[in-house]
Amino acid sequence: MPPPKIIEKDNYVRVRHRMVETQLIPRGIKDKRVIEAMLTIPRHLFVPEEALWSQAYSDFPLPIGEKQTISQPYMVALMTEILELKGSEKVLEIGTGSGYQTAVLSMLAEKVCSIERISLLAARARKVLDSINCSNVVIRIGDGTLGWPEEAPFDAILVTAAAPEIPQCYIEQLNVGGRLVIPVGDIYTQVLTKVIKTAKGVIKQEMGGCRFVKLVGRYGWTNENTY
Ligand code: SAH
Repeated sequence: MPPPKIIEKDNYVRVRHRMVETQLIPRGIKDKRVIEAMLTIPRHLFVPEEALWSQAYSDFPLPIGEKQTISQPYMVALMTEILELKGSEKVLEIGTGSGYQTAVLSMLAEKVCSIERISLLAARARKVLDSINCSNVVIRIGDGTLGWPEEAPFDAILVTAAAPEIPQCYIEQLNVGGRLVIPVGDIYTQVLTKVIKTAKGVIKQEMGGCRFVKLVGRYGWTNENTY
């Protein structure tokens, strides 16, 4: 499927350019398709509180309600670049949150399956994604630590919440040659980890430090309330 026809020009075009030029390119983001997506997707629409739109393109995460956050733009770009998407992939995303990362993925892959455990966030994300015509996205409400067996296998899996360890089902639900990106560590700091599935096993690479909200579920953190 061709990339979704997104986006009319909005008032934030220049701000997005500045975000790319000051936050992404100097830190080494190179993939032209990722840069194009970051220039195109109207990030402010995914920030539920309009009073925060003026900060939507700033170099930090922002609250989206339910104690969750929309990730920092650089982190979205970095994780997406690591997935090495070419356009024909089926991608699984865990932690839809605002839906912003979902929209970026939807421009770069054939189909995005995204799981969110908080139904209010899933509903909001769906609405914004529909409003910008991201028609190649399906969202499920549930525990993403189980993956999505009915939709597997995937060419890429992106987890946007922090896991104590890598749930085995993600490896099982990846195609050979597929990539998984997941923050792994304790609840304060994690290492962004890339896993490549090969015919002979998995290759793990550490891609730098990061800090995400918790992946809460059967194969993640079981207690929502510990910080
Ligand atoms: N990519 C999102 C990040 C949102 S924060 C964005 O930029 O907006 C991480 C999200 O993961 C939160 O919305 C949280 O509710 C969700 N989450 C945590 N554990 C989950 C689980 N087991 N399954 C699905 N979603 C989960």
